[in-house]
Amino acid sequence: MTRIFPDDLEAGLSTRAIHAGQRPEPQAGAIMTPLYLTSTYVQDGFGQHKGYEYARGKNPTREALERNVASLESGQHGFAFASGMGCLDSIMKLFKAGDHIVVGENVYGGTFRLFDRILRHMGLSFSYVDTRDPELVNDAMTGATRALLVETPTNPLMRLADLRAMAEIATRHEALLVVDNTFASPVFQRPLEMGAHIVWHSTTKYLNGHSDMIGGVAVVLEDELAAKLQFIQNAAGAVPGPFDCWLALRGTKTLPLRMRQHDANGRQIATWLANRLGEEHVIYPGLPSHPQHALAASQMSGFGGMITMELGSVERVRQVLERVRVFALAESLGGVESLISHPYSMTHGSVPADVKVGMGLTEGMVRLSCGVEDVEDLLGDLEQALA
Ligand SMILES: *Cc1c(COP(=O)(O)O)cnc(C)c1O
Repeated sequence: MTRIFPDDLEAGLSTRAIHAGQRPEPQAGAIMTPLYLTSTYVQDGFGQHKGYEYARGKNPTREALERNVASLESGQHGFAFASGMGCLDSIMKLFKAGDHIVVGENVYGGTFRLFDRILRHMGLSFSYVDTRDPELVNDAMTGATRALLVETPTNPLMRLADLRAMAEIATRHEALLVVDNTFASPVFQRPLEMGAHIVWHSTTKYLNGHSDMIGGVAVVLEDELAAKLQFIQNAAGAVPGPFDCWLALRGTKTLPLRMRQHDANGRQIATWLANRLGEEHVIYPGLPSHPQHALAASQMSGFGGMITMELGSVERVRQVLERVRVFALAESLGGVESLISHPYSMTHGSVPADVKVGMGLTEGMVRLSCGVEDVEDLLGDLEQALA
């Protein structure tokens, strides 16, 4: 009997999260994708193999993850990497010296560091713009621009870029729209459906969701672009090990389930904080007071668990960070456990102070990654920490 597995985009997202890219293993029928711990594959005869030659090029555990995330993002091809930054570095190898890239000014600190400290010295040039304003983005595009890179919502200022407008601008200038979808996850936002050419993730965050691996993944629709990325993935070799792929694949099975709870907790905590601190001190796209709430509601189907609050001073920040007991003081986000951090000195520590001030990132800001614990415990923790 042949079982049909719902890889196709007609199945619902939760069904795809559990089944897409996966088949019972042929020998025993193991329902879970095996961990293929191998560097090479025995060939049937001279010049005859099963499509697998060497594991930098292909690994069945990795392929299952790649197909799974490709399906979640409504794409056709997925490419997994050893980290989010390794993924972005490989994407950037699509370009060559002399090419110009337009980038959101409030992208992840590590993205800025990769561009400013490494790729700039290899002949790529970058312009940083406020991607909230499509006109500014359009004005930054030149004849040499080959890509527009955006993150939405951004970290930690929760600023949005209008993905449909970004896709229109990029396409008109024959540039690729590359979207970091780590914050929203494909459960709440699918950039390829809005015209993006490449969507990528740090799988370290929501996709894995259990804070036990580091990884990245890129998804595209077009075959030609996919062939280039596959070539880079194999040639440059920033590939993940199979065990990390296996962990991420276990994580994506519960992604829709987890995101629902992150979102419910996020909304409730943001509303509570807005009452407690004043709505002007809480940044969350799901709050009606967020200046881009309407855009958020039009391109996202949920707002997730990331909240930024302004506490006014470093002293107050220190007090809260030292008092929390359920929220853990740590970098990273998107795991089942709630985390709290100080973006100015932590995730954005490598960004020059004048750049941070220029974009509105203050020393008094604290970022919450609301996990999936009981919301009463999270609220109680914040209450006692803020008291
Ligand atoms: C963490 C993160 C990255 C980098 O990913 P790593 O897996 O840590 O290399 C990129 N973008 C965003 C939005 C992130 O949160």
